[in-house]
Amino acid sequence: MLERLLYIDGAFVPAARGGTLDVQDPACEEVFARAAAATAADVDAAVAAARRAFDHGPWPRLRAAERAALLRQVAAALRAEQEQLARLEQRDNGKPLKEARGDVADAAFCFDYYADMAEQIEAEGEAAVDVGDARFDCRIRREPVGVVGAITPWNFPLLMAAWKVAPALAAGCCVVLKPSELCLLSCTELARYLHEAGLPAGAFNLVTGLGTEAGAPLAEHPGVDKLAFTGSLATGAKVMAAAARESRNVSLELGGKSPLIIFADSDLDKAVQWLQFGVFWNQGQVCSATSRVLVQRPLYAALLARLKAAAEAIRIGPGDAEGVQMGPLVSAAQHAKVLEAIVRARDGGARLVSGGGRPAGLERGHFLQPTVFADVPTDSLIWREEVFGPVVCVNPFDSEAEAIALANDSRYGLAGAVMSADAARCERVARALRAGVVWINCSQPTFTQLPWGGMKASGIGRELGRSGYEAFLELKQITRFDEREDWNWYPADTVPKAPATEPSTT
Ligand code: NAD
Repeated sequence: MLERLLYIDGAFVPAARGGTLDVQDPACEEVFARAAAATAADVDAAVAAARRAFDHGPWPRLRAAERAALLRQVAAALRAEQEQLARLEQRDNGKPLKEARGDVADAAFCFDYYADMAEQIEAEGEAAVDVGDARFDCRIRREPVGVVGAITPWNFPLLMAAWKVAPALAAGCCVVLKPSELCLLSCTELARYLHEAGLPAGAFNLVTGLGTEAGAPLAEHPGVDKLAFTGSLATGAKVMAAAARESRNVSLELGGKSPLIIFADSDLDKAVQWLQFGVFWNQGQVCSATSRVLVQRPLYAALLARLKAAAEAIRIGPGDAEGVQMGPLVSAAQHAKVLEAIVRARDGGARLVSGGGRPAGLERGHFLQPTVFADVPTDSLIWREEVFGPVVCVNPFDSEAEAIALANDSRYGLAGAVMSADAARCERVARALRAGVVWINCSQPTFTQLPWGGMKASGIGRELGRSGYEAFLELKQITRFDEREDWNWYPADTVPKAPATEPSTT
């Protein structure tokens, strides 16, 4: 049985109250690890350590090149241990091993990328601004935002942590990370890599624990300067409310119900390939999953037939088994939640084309068939709300204008995709979609160099790219007045002369 501790102030420690969390393998439902369960006292200690490290420690005061060197060591450690780390992530989360390997590689790239960015932005230096008055010398400095409370989900446990921890540390912030209680083992490994690379005590802290017991105290903690949250809309609202109390900086990466528009001139094979990847990858537990598919009517029946055959050919099983393309969902609760959404969709009039239940021969584990619904009422929950499982809704459309209107008729705006042989049409649709990420002739490819985040209820702010670094910076203006000049707001002859005073003898 693996045992994992909290990481606070440069040391691996048990939880103050001694509590632990069971870590389950979702493919066989066996508990194979135990991790310390932090409560408010541990969060207090972690924030205090991060506060000391930020206010008095070396980390924010190092040159960017020194911080970058440490982050590059972490990237190298991730690469050196890619296979065992991917296997750990796979067992914790259930995802296919191939995908876990990709996550580790992406996390390593993220650390290298933000190491480079720290150096680049420091080299840019302070920006001088001409305010049109020669008596003033004005500059803009960028400084780290301070202590960051990072709260992350279970669908890409290591990668979602890397998207916050790498830029925050690169920028000179000190971090308290609270990963999801459902998948946390790769984050405890990340703490070890940072420790072994020689990160100063307190610059990074890890509090594994329940959302209510560790997440909420972190979100509410007055010692945190910025909250960086990825998770559901409901929890995001709580985090934002907590941040509002002290008017603290907050960024939110939330859910979505992203559309994929397929025009009739699309290549059918490619359309089905991307459609499947867009919604069944990672068992559909992807914030940007294109789970609302709009197909132009001439292609509708053929696409549904091809999709049904393709979905039924997906190999389901434990993620570490050879050739498996879809693993189990993360937990019994998630499995039950997705099944409930499927039942509600059927009862609400959506036509079940494929899947909808447990795959034959997989009686244990949180396995679910890839599920396809067609002719879905557009006012139903399954059409409008995130399922976060391998469930796709497909509806027909006739005109480009209708497709855009249906796609944008959502409270979310994380992602969207369009497929057509007509490049000009793709461009028009891409511009018309109200979403932070738009794919043309594909769905899901994600690059560290590009901003990631949503419009509308899908969030506030952007991760990744330069914006993902700037999210951990404050701008400070420094305005210097030339002391040889007169300001003369209160002319000298109107100000009474100060009386001459004797030096005090007392
Ligand atoms: P969740 O909201 O249940 O949990 C997210 C994190 O918040 C976990 O660490 C959890 O312990 C913590 N938490 C729970 N209650 C809390 C509270 N009261 N205060 C503070 N923290 C609390 O989400 P989840 O089920 O882990 O993840 C799935 C969601 O994440 C989906 O909605 C998905 O779309 C979203 N997501 C978004 C992105 C993105 O980039 N936009 C990426 C991945 C996942």
